[in-house]
Amino acid sequence: MDFKKPSIVHTAGSNAEAHMIVLMLQANGVLAHASEDQSGVSLWAFGTISQFHKPNIWVDEETLPTATALIQDFEEKKKANVTSGEGSGEIQVLCEGCGKTTPFPSTLDGTTQQCGHCHAYVDVGELPWDDDYGEPES
Ligand SMILES: [Zn+2]
Repeated sequence: MDFKKPSIVHTAGSNAEAHMIVLMLQANGVLAHASEDQSGVSLWAFGTISQFHKPNIWVDEETLPTATALIQDFEEKKKANVTSGEGSGEIQVLCEGCGKTTPFPSTLDGTTQQCGHCHAYVDVGELPWDDDYGEPES
């Protein structure tokens, strides 16, 4: 690593989360690195060791305050997503084929799925027609 003074800024709950945080930090100009285990040797011996060792996020000490703030922001947004997802976690999609609506989870927003009634393909969520399609009505 190129860190002058490596510091652990965060311990992630999973490798996937660690990976996301590292990418998020790098996107914000903070050099970051995730490591599951400091020795590295145990990773060879036990394939499932990552389930027991929580991955640490490393940054250079001088970027520590920035990284901490970014991660806090990241965690808050994650919580906010989970909270706001409750109750509004479904998108009702009107099928043009049969005229019925089918609920889809909001995580499928922007994807193409099949109507629950006639299995026609339907677009879930709001597609950006306004930006890309046609002239404005007047
Ligand atoms: Zn249908």
